[in-house]
Amino acid sequence: MGLARVKYRWLIALLIILVIVFGWPRKLLRPPTNGDSQPAKEEIQPSAEEASSAASTEEASTEPTDTVPVAPVALLPPPEPLMRFQLPTANDALFKNSPADFFMFVDRYTPQGPVQVWEGGGYGFVRNPRDTPQGTVFTKFHEGVDIAPVQRDAKGEPQDSVHAIADGMVAYATTSPRTSNYGHYVVLRHTIGKAGDFYSLYAHLSGIDVVPGTPIQRGGLIGRMGHTGDGIDRRRSHVHLELGLILSERFEEYYGKNYKLANGHGLFHGTNLAGLDVVSFLTANHQDPMLMPDAFLQREEVYYKITVPNRGREIEIAASHPWMRQGGAADVAWEISFTRSGVPVAVVPSAQAAAFPVVSWVKPFAGYHSWNTRSMLGGSGSTATLTTAGSHFVQLVAGDF
Ligand SMILES: [Zn+2]
Repeated sequence: MGLARVKYRWLIALLIILVIVFGWPRKLLRPPTNGDSQPAKEEIQPSAEEASSAASTEEASTEPTDTVPVAPVALLPPPEPLMRFQLPTANDALFKNSPADFFMFVDRYTPQGPVQVWEGGGYGFVRNPRDTPQGTVFTKFHEGVDIAPVQRDAKGEPQDSVHAIADGMVAYATTSPRTSNYGHYVVLRHTIGKAGDFYSLYAHLSGIDVVPGTPIQRGGLIGRMGHTGDGIDRRRSHVHLELGLILSERFEEYYGKNYKLANGHGLFHGTNLAGLDVVSFLTANHQDPMLMPDAFLQREEVYYKITVPNRGREIEIAASHPWMRQGGAADVAWEISFTRSGVPVAVVPSAQAAAFPVVSWVKPFAGYHSWNTRSMLGGSGSTATLTTAGSHFVQLVAGDF
C-alpha cells in the first residue's frame, strides 16, 4: 500500500466526519430552480426560532414528526416574558414564607382587648370578621396589599424607597392628597402586549419622585414609604399596592352623574380601578415569570354573571382587553363575568334579551351574597339581585350611563 493511497483514505474519512458534524451544504442538495418555483422541501421546515415559538404555544401537541430540528434545542434562548415583575420595596418576606414580616398588620378589637392581625394587610376579604352560621365571614374588602417597612429612623418614620413593579409610564401622581384616603399616591400604566393595559397603584407615600407622562423602568424609584391618608399612623406606615384595570375611560362623565363631590383624580379615582389579587399574582409570577395578569385573571373563580343590554357597541373593557371578549358575534345582550371582588374577567354575547342589568348566574352560597361581593349583590343561595351600589357599578363597567 503506497503512501499516497493512505493519505487519500484519510481525506475521505475527514470529509465524512465534516459532513456528519456540520451537515451537507444545503445548496448542493437543492434541485435547480428557475427563481419562482416552490422552495426545496427542507426550506419550508420551520426555522429553529419558529419551531421554538410553535412549541411554546402548542405545548399539548403530541403529533409525531419525522423532521429533525436544524439546531440543537439547548442552543435556543429561553423565551422572554412579555413583562417582568418585582416587589415594590426591599421587603421580600412574601417569597420567604414569612408573611407576618411582609404584611402590615391591622388593629382588631376583640372582647379580650386589641390585637394586631397581619392577615388584615393581605388582599381581599380580610377585614371586619363576623361570626355567622356559615362560619367566620370577613365583610370588609381590601383591594390591595399593605407592605410593611423594613427600615425606620429613630422617630419611627419609614425609610423604605418604593419602586415600579414593572416597566411602564407614570399615569398619575397626586398633588392633593387630602381628597383621597390613599394619601399621596402614584399610578403607573403597564402596556402588556396582547394582555392590554394594566395599572399599578402605590399609596400612602411620604414623597413622590416621578412626573406623570414619563416612562419608568421596573425597579425605578417612585417615592418614599409614608403614612399619608386616612386611618393610618406612623406605627402602621406601609405602601398600599394595587394591580388592576381601569374600568372606563369615560369615568369622569359617570362620576359627574353619580356623585355630588368633585372628583380630584380623573380616571385614577379608586372607584375606576378594579384591583386583582395582587398577592396571589406576584407570588404566582415569581414561580412562573411567563404568567401575565390576563392569564392569571382567566383562571380566577367567577362568582357572578350579569346580563346587560347591548347598546349597539362592544363593552369597552373587552374591546381594550381582547382576551376578555369571548364567544361569537354580538347579540341582543352581553353577559359579563366577575370575580367575587368585582373584577370583570369575561364578556360573551347573550341571546337573552335584558331591558336592564340582571344577575344571570351566581355561585350558590348559604349565607348572604352581600358578604362575598362587597355588597354588589343581595340575596342568598342560588338567587341574587343587584343592589343599588351593584347597579351603579355595572353601569360603569357596561358603559351604560
Ligand atoms: Zn391597604
